[in-house]
Amino acid sequence: MIHGKNNIGKSLSAKGELSFQTFSPLTLEQLPEKFVQATSEELEDAVQKAVSAYAVYKRKPGKERAVFLRAVADEIEAVGPELIERACAESGLPEGRITGERGRTTNQLRMFAKVLEDGDWVEASIDPAMPDRKPLPRADIRKMLQPVGPVVVFTASNFPLAFSTAGGDTASALAAGNPVIVKSHPYHAGTNELVSGAIVKAAQKTGMPDGVFSSLNATDFSIGQGLVMHPKVKSVAFTGSFNGGKSLYDLAQKRDEPIPVFAEMGSVNPVLLLPGKIKQNTAGLGATIASSINLGAGQFCTNPGVLVAVKGGETEAFKSELAANVAKLMPEKMLHKNIISNFEQKTKSFFENGIVTKLAESENEPAQLTGKPIVAVVKGSDFVKNPDLAEEIFGPFSLLIECDGKAELESVMGAFEGQLTASVFCTADDVETYSPAIEILQEVVGRLIFNGVPTGVEVGYSMQHGGPFPASTDGRFTSVGVDAIKRFVRPVAFQDAPDAYLPDELKDANPLEIWRRVDGKLTKDVIN
Ligand code: NAP
Repeated sequence: MIHGKNNIGKSLSAKGELSFQTFSPLTLEQLPEKFVQATSEELEDAVQKAVSAYAVYKRKPGKERAVFLRAVADEIEAVGPELIERACAESGLPEGRITGERGRTTNQLRMFAKVLEDGDWVEASIDPAMPDRKPLPRADIRKMLQPVGPVVVFTASNFPLAFSTAGGDTASALAAGNPVIVKSHPYHAGTNELVSGAIVKAAQKTGMPDGVFSSLNATDFSIGQGLVMHPKVKSVAFTGSFNGGKSLYDLAQKRDEPIPVFAEMGSVNPVLLLPGKIKQNTAGLGATIASSINLGAGQFCTNPGVLVAVKGGETEAFKSELAANVAKLMPEKMLHKNIISNFEQKTKSFFENGIVTKLAESENEPAQLTGKPIVAVVKGSDFVKNPDLAEEIFGPFSLLIECDGKAELESVMGAFEGQLTASVFCTADDVETYSPAIEILQEVVGRLIFNGVPTGVEVGYSMQHGGPFPASTDGRFTSVGVDAIKRFVRPVAFQDAPDAYLPDELKDANPLEIWRRVDGKLTKDVIN
């Protein structure tokens, strides 16, 4: 049963007078349950509870936090079909996709549990004292990563589970030892409620402090902005649009104490299609690119929003294949009526400048709330003068940029802003011929993919999901994979500290048996 209240730590609260309902793209109607918008008093309670919880939670050994994260994964699974049904109803996404997303969410939580059990993630480093060093003795200095304090998480509309309430941001912030306050997404407040309930249950079962997790409902910006401005909040994670991420980032920099806002925003993920590869597999590429554009109705941050090719016979053949495949695509359900109206308005106005033309569109009539796949085309020289054409259009849309030779291709590559990913479809000869263009592209991306589409992100140790601005507010970090934890920590060095005072990770005896860098060398040895 959905109750519509806010989770202030383990307490449910609904003091506000404003309420809202979620919309179902499946029935095109509001779902019946009402969600009560949090008040500023409830916001204050959530933050104060997080502050108290932090004092206890940060001291919990990694292995105890791991038990908590595994319990969260178990409790999410225990919600059962109700969670899948609710997420499908609130997003219109098919059951298979939502079930897959739930698996990714619980796997992420268990991955961070394993990271905590291994213990090496704290990057313990020890420079033992050298009392006899001349001309000056060296002090004993030991450093490791420690949590920062309460973290606020904003969730995205297009991943109701994996980039949401218990998604990668929450999992990594909790793993690092920080309490989390989620500002739930108003498109899937019911899904948020079910997942929040699971997190709170897991916290209670595993003896975590009250306030280690809270979640607040809101349908306007006041609660989200209030959280970012609260002086006790120490960091923010955001997944969503450029406008949302940038305005929260700007807000946080205006605080008396500015704090980091790790915003993962939109991206067009350029796909470079080089002549040798096109020639090798023209039909296959046309089909692969068309289906990637329409995957999930194009509502992915890794959607291939821009294609780039060099003019010539191969590219002409590819254009025909792409157009034929796009014409056959079935328009898919989009997440919300606001998203589709934005998509329709942006794709319409895109052609008003007279420099882009339509290459192809789906010939299947879109049903209600489905997005019609469209591919536009522009000359490389026009794109270089109008790089704003590469702004994200959230939905099944892509722009093909046709370049007149290598030099223009390099200019086009140089006109891109920061991106999450870029793909290069190439043969070995293509790489040799076009390596300057590929290297220019590498400068602006977080992940460079060879002979693969950008859609699909592995969760692991080596993943980078974050690129130079404006793809992210800080391209040095990732929001997916193990290194996501590094956003919510700070290094602390202890100089000449008594062994008894040091955290276990830095004690002489290495009681956790973790890898540490001693005098620059990785070892599990004890310090004598
Ligand atoms: P959104 O409209 O930016 O909303 C995200 C969240 O931020 C919502 O809770 C929203 O609150 C809040 N918000 C937005 N602007 C705000 C402001 N000025 N002040 C306070 N709160 C604000 O994004 P979305 O439609 O949910 O997600 C789609 C976008 O996310 C696409 O651009 C997609 O590419 C991107 N995305 C990026 C990644 C990535 O990893 N880089 C992953 C998935 C999606 P309200 O809803 O209450 O307005």
